[in-house]
Amino acid sequence: MNTLGEIGLAEYWIGAHVSASGGVENAPNNAQEIGANAFALFTKNQRRWEAKPLTKKSIELFKQRCEQQGFKPEQILPHDSYLINLGHPDADALAKSRAAFLDEMQRCEQLGLVWLNFHPGSHLREISETECLAKIAKSINLAIAETEEVVAVIEATAGQGSNLGHRFEHLAEIIDQVDDKSRVGVCIDTCHIFAAGYDLRTQEACEATFAEFDRIVGFDYLKAMHLNDSKGALGSRVDRHHSLGQGEIGWEVFRYLMQDARFEKMPLILETIEPEIWPEEIAQLRHFMQSVDMLT
Ligand SMILES: [Zn+2]
Ligand SMILES: [Zn+2]
Repeated sequence: MNTLGEIGLAEYWIGAHVSASGGVENAPNNAQEIGANAFALFTKNQRRWEAKPLTKKSIELFKQRCEQQGFKPEQILPHDSYLINLGHPDADALAKSRAAFLDEMQRCEQLGLVWLNFHPGSHLREISETECLAKIAKSINLAIAETEEVVAVIEATAGQGSNLGHRFEHLAEIIDQVDDKSRVGVCIDTCHIFAAGYDLRTQEACEATFAEFDRIVGFDYLKAMHLNDSKGALGSRVDRHHSLGQGEIGWEVFRYLMQDARFEKMPLILETIEPEIWPEEIAQLRHFMQSVDMLT
């Protein structure tokens, strides 16, 4: 029997980074309202160091609503605070970042979540790239040692300022120094890697870029994607997101992702600049997915 849902066995988890204002428990419903089957959220204010612990009520409601709306932990991609720098050159500042990162990991555990997406860190032009990458890896090892199962998901960056993580080699170098490889992964942000110099504008460019990723990092480590177009040009190292199809990248990469099984069963998260059109962006991505079903 061939019902519509069974034509293709594709299982893409598509959503957006939704608001958790008023409490994390509001995020699942915000995601459901835009037609998502995945979402990202901050589990605390991303621009502050201090955060009140999650209340028991908040945790229970979050879990209950995720279950009601059909969001499994694997479909949810929490993002850590922008203040954290796990490669900070200064010992005190590094210790502060490591403590905050551990707190983020523990909040994920309390919510029953399995990923924590974060930006690797910056050398602030005070230490070498190699030293900074080693500090980042050690920061991950420390957090992993004190938690049970949350996977540290390193986001590829645009390489703005002194941020590392804009070369696939950086990601590989960090992973290489993480003791428990089952607890580390990668999130590719299409805007970031494009700004970092990896072309995604044509099918051929996508094939080359993802082949390079596979060769240097390995698809096994790819746990999530951020789907954004870019206001910055290829190689500009400017981290400015745009709505899908409206920036320098264009639609092709998003069609490509939705027709390649390597990107199934991982959170695919919009961080595009117009939340009002998230429902249309999600629908368009699903449309790309169906158009390949009809061909097979
Ligand atoms: Zn990010
Ligand atoms: Zn991102």
